[in-house]
Amino acid sequence: MRQAPAVVLEAYGRPPVLREVSIADPGADEVLVGVRASGVCRTDLAAVRDARAVPVVLGHEGAGVVLAAGAAVRTVEPGDHVVVNWQPKCGRCRYCVSGRREFCDGVRGTAAPRVHHGGEPLAVMLNAGTFCPFAVVPAAGVVKVRPDLPFAAAALLGCAVATGVGAALYGARIQPGDTVVVLGAGGVGLNAVQGARIAGAGRIIVTDHDPEHLALAGRLGATDLIAAADDVRGAVHDLTAGLGADHVLEAVGAAQLVELAVSLLARGGTVTLLGATARDAVAGFSPRTLLSRQQRIQGCIYGNIAPERDLPLFADWYLQGRLELDPFVSRTIALAEVPELFTEQSGSGVRTVVDLEAA
Ligand SMILES: [Zn+2]
Ligand SMILES: [Zn+2]
Repeated sequence: MRQAPAVVLEAYGRPPVLREVSIADPGADEVLVGVRASGVCRTDLAAVRDARAVPVVLGHEGAGVVLAAGAAVRTVEPGDHVVVNWQPKCGRCRYCVSGRREFCDGVRGTAAPRVHHGGEPLAVMLNAGTFCPFAVVPAAGVVKVRPDLPFAAAALLGCAVATGVGAALYGARIQPGDTVVVLGAGGVGLNAVQGARIAGAGRIIVTDHDPEHLALAGRLGATDLIAAADDVRGAVHDLTAGLGADHVLEAVGAAQLVELAVSLLARGGTVTLLGATARDAVAGFSPRTLLSRQQRIQGCIYGNIAPERDLPLFADWYLQGRLELDPFVSRTIALAEVPELFTEQSGSGVRTVVDLEAA
């Protein structure tokens, strides 16, 4: 049992607060992670309106060092550097046993609550809760990475990179020469751009409302940049000689952008949804057009990655310079500063990273 501060969302509609919590030892198939860095993802900010449960320790884009491992853990040991994988697969459900682990319906956290405040158990966001210097997660909820990988970059691999790069490679399965549109150039969208570039896309068209984000997209491989306020449909029409895009990746999570995405598709094209819309959002499309133009709309959670294979691979790509992450980190803050982020108007920059080494 150990005590530490954590960022806790106690009620919907109000900013989270810093609370002193107690963290129990890991169970037999669990590990205790000393969290060193945690990115602030849009999903953390959106928890204020649609967290699954409160009170909850926020944070899920994390990386750190294994401090202790339960007796049954074989995959990592104390001292290992790890990325938190917030989709720990169960290995037993019908999807896992049939080789379709990306659809696992047994994803869950620790066997019992490991974090308490005032004697009451706290939920942890996405099986993680990395806005705390300690996190207890299932053994499958961490993946070992090379120790020369900086913690801030490692943290980003665990959500923004997995979701964006993974969606391009494994969700959309972009092929060399494909025309790709990415709607939204935040942390996930910019990684989708990098994934499309790595996949060999012929044209990567990006739209966003923020000129800084668009400029970054250009640096990361986008071939054409469109301000979101412009006529995006007309611009994509012109850029593709009227054909439309083979792939549209929606990385914002807005119903009207989902509708826009469908309207940008070429024959045989696919919309891949990466952004989390509000739980009650509804979007419309013409089924007749979808049928006659043989198009598809699909969801993609966590980039459909195989975490044990892909997180170390992405780490190599970053250290080889094939994936750029440093320009994303627009600022680094202390844990105690996290609650303030929730009262700011959507801040500047792409990613804020919480440095927990100081905590
Ligand atoms: Zn995230
Ligand atoms: Zn499963």
